[in-house]
Order: sequence, then structure tokens, then C-alpha cells
Amino acid sequence: MNAPPRGPKAGQDYPQAWAQFMDWFATDEACSRYLERLRWHDGFVCPRCGNAAEPYRANRARLMCRVCKHQCSVTAGTIFDKTRTPLRTWLAGAWYVTNQKQGVSALGMQRVLGLNSYETAWTMLHRFRRAMTRPGRERLKGDVEVDETYIAITDRIYPLSREGRKRNTTDTLVAVAVEVVKPKGFGRVRFRRIPDDSERSVLPFIREEVEPGSTLHTDGSATYRSVTKHGYKHDRNVILGSSTPAHVSLPGVHRVASLVKRWILGTHHGAVQPSQLDYYLDEFAFRFNRRSSRSRGMLFYRLLEQAVITPPVTYSDIAGGRSFSPSGR
Ligand SMILES: [Zn+2]
Repeated sequence: MNAPPRGPKAGQDYPQAWAQFMDWFATDEACSRYLERLRWHDGFVCPRCGNAAEPYRANRARLMCRVCKHQCSVTAGTIFDKTRTPLRTWLAGAWYVTNQKQGVSALGMQRVLGLNSYETAWTMLHRFRRAMTRPGRERLKGDVEVDETYIAITDRIYPLSREGRKRNTTDTLVAVAVEVVKPKGFGRVRFRRIPDDSERSVLPFIREEVEPGSTLHTDGSATYRSVTKHGYKHDRNVILGSSTPAHVSLPGVHRVASLVKRWILGTHHGAVQPSQLDYYLDEFAFRFNRRSSRSRGMLFYRLLEQAVITPPVTYSDIAGGRSFSPSGR
């Protein structure tokens, strides 16, 4: 039988502080060994034949199975796949992005890591964002507020704005779900960009992000009329007249929506391509859902743990963005 899982510990599983980070990750080989441990918690397992034994090491990047001679690398099939950026820079990037409470812009990342190009910083950040959503994560449950909100974003991309190009501002509709904790406080959040506030657009979001049996708290909109048919309890907050402001009836979504809007304006200067917005929202949710983590290093650990099981994306994949996905993602 396996030992019960223990939580990751500072100074053992992730660095306590920057000084320790520098010690641990002095070489690309050390970084590679660290990722290897995250990818195969119980030791290397050959991806082809399943043999579990210490592999041959042709060089620091190549691992070879002792049985079937299959060769692989720790970064193959992960967000670090085929990167020309040294692993040390990647790990420093992961440290920086998780240690800044509000996250970082691509320009900030480029400056801190001394990267030659803005595109490298931008791609790195986007690859990290892809790793911020855990596949098969648990749905929200209990008391969950659901609403839609508009987020104003501009299509300005640095450095084009220096030419004084006109910025197009778009109000993008986003569905928000927030667990509310009694007597006071919020649990986890989920977001999704939606084309409109119809039932057809909002219901798939609810079904994929909220556990049936939960109580949905919504406004009186017809969008939510059939949720009880899908196994949810429904608390409709019908606002009679205009004397009750919306933030009183659904305080969770209004609080979270204002935080996410401030974050997009502050850290990202409001400049987010509409097709990229879902990934920014994933990053916000990653941070928000782990806001009680006492250690920033823990966030670093969780990010890299997910990074080694997240498939790679290329610059052009990323620049293409995500289309609306009513059937989930
Ligand atoms: Zn093998």
C-alpha cells in the first residue's frame, strides 16, 4: 500500500525563499531533476512500456528506459517542450509569477528575466496560464452564486500602442460562479467568457462547473429557469423595484467581479485580447482559489506540478486564442 499523501513542505519540496531558490536551481541539470521528481513522484516510469526503474541517462536531458530503450526527456509533452529558453529561466519565471501577489505582465516578465524578446516573455506567461487549470478539478459545491458581468478590455498590444493606435474597447460578457461560505466569506471561483446571457450559453457553464445538488443563488432572470431540472436547488433573488442594489442580493459575484476587473486594469492595463480572456480568468481563479496558501512557494510548487502534465502550446496556438466552447473545455 502507498503511504498516505503528505502535503508539500517548504525547504523540502519547494524553496523557502529566493536565496534557497538560487541554491537549488544553480544549473539546468538541477532544474531538470526537480521537474523529473514532480512528473514522476514515485520515480521514473517509462511512457512506452511502463517499466518503473531508474533510467539510463545519456545526457542531462535524455532519459532512456532500461527495458525497451525508449528515449524521452522530462520536458517532452509538457509546457517546456522544445523550448530554447533555459530551464533555469523558466523556473525563475514560475517563481516570479507566483510570488507577485497580483501576477505580472509580459513586459514585467521580460524585464525581470532579462529576456531578449517580448514574445518570449508573452509565450512563457501564456504557457504558465495553460497550466493553471487542473484537468478534472472538482466542481464548486454548496451555496453558489452565479451571475454574468461585463469586463471591459482593449485590444492594445504592446508596443503597438506607442504608435498612438486607437484602442478598441470591448465589453466582454463573462459568467461568474462563486462559492459562498456561511456565515461570511467566499470559497472558490470559476469564470467563462460567454457569447450572450441566454440559457444556452450559461447552463453548460453551470453544469460543468457546479456540482448537482448545490444551491444556486441567481437573479430573477429567465436564464436560470430550468436549473432545478438539472438537479440544482434554486434560490432566485428577485429584485422588486430598484431599491435593492444588485451587490446586496449577490454579494459574492459582485465582489469577485470587481476584483477581477481591477486586476485586469491594474496588472494588465486592461489590454487583453478577447480571445485570450479565458486564460487570464484562469490565472485569476488559480490565484484566488489559493489565496489562503500561507507560502508563495507553495503556489510555485502547484504551478510546476501542473506544468509537467500540461501539453505544450506554440506561439501561434496561443495567438489564435480560444473560441467559445459551449460544450466545455
Ligand atoms: Zn520502456
